[in-house]
Amino acid sequence: MFKSKGITVKTGDEELVNITSRVSEKLSETGIENGFCLVFCPHTTAGIFVNERESGLKEDMLSFLKETAPKGQGYKHDRGPETNAHAHIRNMLTGESTVLPVEDGKLVLGTWQNVFLLESDGPRTRNVNIYVMGEN
Ligand code: ZN
Repeated sequence: MFKSKGITVKTGDEELVNITSRVSEKLSETGIENGFCLVFCPHTTAGIFVNERESGLKEDMLSFLKETAPKGQGYKHDRGPETNAHAHIRNMLTGESTVLPVEDGKLVLGTWQNVFLLESDGPRTRNVNIYVMGEN
């Protein structure tokens, strides 16, 4: 069985948004008990990744991305009309999707693992597509 769902996420300027509970909710709606769940963000300036939700670490991860690909560094893409090359480059680091196992109707995640959306070019409303393949 294959099912697809979607959520929208309202974001701030630059932030990490924990979307784990919203993905889990959509997984539950599919009724699929065992299989795989693909979380895919169809944007080139927002990313998806799995990591720990501890608040200090969230700040550390965002700081790392901001320092690694700062805004306004004379990027060629920023000649216009867009000025968001930094966000595209950060997306290269996180990727735009993750695949998680599903067991007994739940996402298989380690104790500290959460699913995050990285916003680097907000505020925006981001779409996140959730594709679940498996059996009831
Ligand atoms: Zn752009």
